[in-house]
Amino acid sequence: MLTRSFGVTGVPVSIVGQGTWRMGESRRATARDAEALRLGIELGLTHIDTAEMYGDGGAERVVGEAIRGQRDRVWITTKVWPSHASYTGTLEACEASLRRLGTDHVDIYLLHWPGPHPIAETMRAMAELVRRGHARFVGVSNFDVTQMREAQAALDGILLACNQVPYHFGNRGVEAEVIPWCEARGVAVVGYSPLSGLGGRRSTVARIALRHGRTPRQVALNFLARRAPLFTIPKASDPEHVRENAAALDFTLTPEDILALERDSGE
Ligand code: NAP
Repeated sequence: MLTRSFGVTGVPVSIVGQGTWRMGESRRATARDAEALRLGIELGLTHIDTAEMYGDGGAERVVGEAIRGQRDRVWITTKVWPSHASYTGTLEACEASLRRLGTDHVDIYLLHWPGPHPIAETMRAMAELVRRGHARFVGVSNFDVTQMREAQAALDGILLACNQVPYHFGNRGVEAEVIPWCEARGVAVVGYSPLSGLGGRRSTVARIALRHGRTPRQVALNFLARRAPLFTIPKASDPEHVRENAAALDFTLTPEDILALERDSGE
């Protein structure tokens, strides 16, 4: 699996990663989900996204199980839930996440959504987590440009490293302002729910997939991660889905394909 520099961090991170929403919701699912993540890691999907909210901590436990003995191979993102994101709440939430993940640090810690606590207060806590070594880098999720500016200003010299946003064929709103702003500043854009909105058999995605002998999902992932600063994090518990997603960058979309896909939903 290909990697690219995760924005200003300079760390090579797998362009296609693994989401974990809906993982770890039951004991039986936990073992299967951890197995799927381990398979993904074997296939190079070493960029893993989770959050304290997913499965009420269950998804972080799945990730902890999957990365046991191979922490150094993976890039771990987790997120603080908005209602916990006071200064003290953020520090405590991160410590609880680290316990569930079975690690002493995450690679990047995000505020899941802008919420009831002032962005500047949460960012002060994020900066403290970096100083303590609990997080290597700081990011946000579901932020618009104004909110990213506010977060960056509060970070006290630490560079905002990513914004995780919805980015799929049913919602490409981030192409207008968020991606250009991030691109100009080396902020990685991590697109979530990439497999939504694919359309039917006659869609542009489906036509291009047929021509390349690939699946529409592979074309979607390839397109959604087509250049820096883009990353994409499909979630798959089914091992066949993991394999399919892991092969999404094994072919090259032509400039004409990219143009057609960009025009398709009006970039
Ligand atoms: P998604 O990745 O677009 O779709 C997941 C669904 O697609 C699952 O039902 C999965 O099935 C299926 N799937 C995966 N690969 C497939 C394949 N190759 N063929 C057919 N079906 C396939 O949606 P998502 O989970 O909403 O988004 C991905 C990740 O983004 C989340 O898991 C989470 O980590 C993150 N996220 C973040 C936010 C945020 O607010 N920051 C919001 C939403 C999501 P199986 O599981 O059965 O394989």
